[in-house]
Amino acid sequence: MSVIENYRIVDEKVRKACERAGRKREEVTLIAVSKTKPVSMIEELLPLHVVDFGENKVQELTSKSEILSSDLHWHMIGHLQRNKVKYIIDKACLIHSVDSLRLAETISQEAVKKNVTASILIEVNVAGEESKFGVAPNDTEELIEKISHLSNIQVKGLMTIAPFVENAEENREIFRNLRNLSVDIQEKKFNNVTMNVLSMGMTGDYEVAIEEGATMVRVGTGIFGERDYSK
Ligand SMILES: *Cc1c(COP(=O)(O)O)cnc(C)c1O
Repeated sequence: MSVIENYRIVDEKVRKACERAGRKREEVTLIAVSKTKPVSMIEELLPLHVVDFGENKVQELTSKSEILSSDLHWHMIGHLQRNKVKYIIDKACLIHSVDSLRLAETISQEAVKKNVTASILIEVNVAGEESKFGVAPNDTEELIEKISHLSNIQVKGLMTIAPFVENAEENREIFRNLRNLSVDIQEKKFNNVTMNVLSMGMTGDYEVAIEEGATMVRVGTGIFGERDYSK
């Protein structure tokens, strides 16, 4: 199947999940996760007016964003090292993976230098998996309170990477917990903090995530096919 056909199928499933949840389709952004995939596959989607793409490596995000139209929105979804923040600060529309004050401080400093405001999400390790990045749910509010005092940085919401499971239903509680956490934090009304974005759900579980309130889903394999890391 072509990338276009795959995209249409995923987009239709997003629409149906919104319908089931009594939500508007416009509330959910479908991010096409193009990591490891060539620019030519991204270009196949441009006639459909797809603009949101996700990358997890700084080098790949910057090189693709330089080659392709400046109208595209690049989402940094992978773990970010502090020494690489300067390369993406004015290229990524949203950094989904902030999980420490030190990283947020670097983002703030680089944003000040380039005179931009960086939009970020806080990555929360809801499932408590040791192998994953992300702040613990219990430490999230304290981290956000500290970040709220930094210059040129806006916290837009939360992100999580749920465990890989055979049955997406197994992740429903994780998505619900992230949503509840975002509601609690919204009530604190910190400066420069809103909780309008919930980035959760991947190829295996995006429909359940939408039913539980996701506003951004990150779908790679479902659109571009399996990734080949052997090259
Ligand atoms: C790779 C990746 C995705 C997409 O995963 P698929 O299962 O291929 O849809 C989503 N989010 C993050 C953070 C990723 O690294």
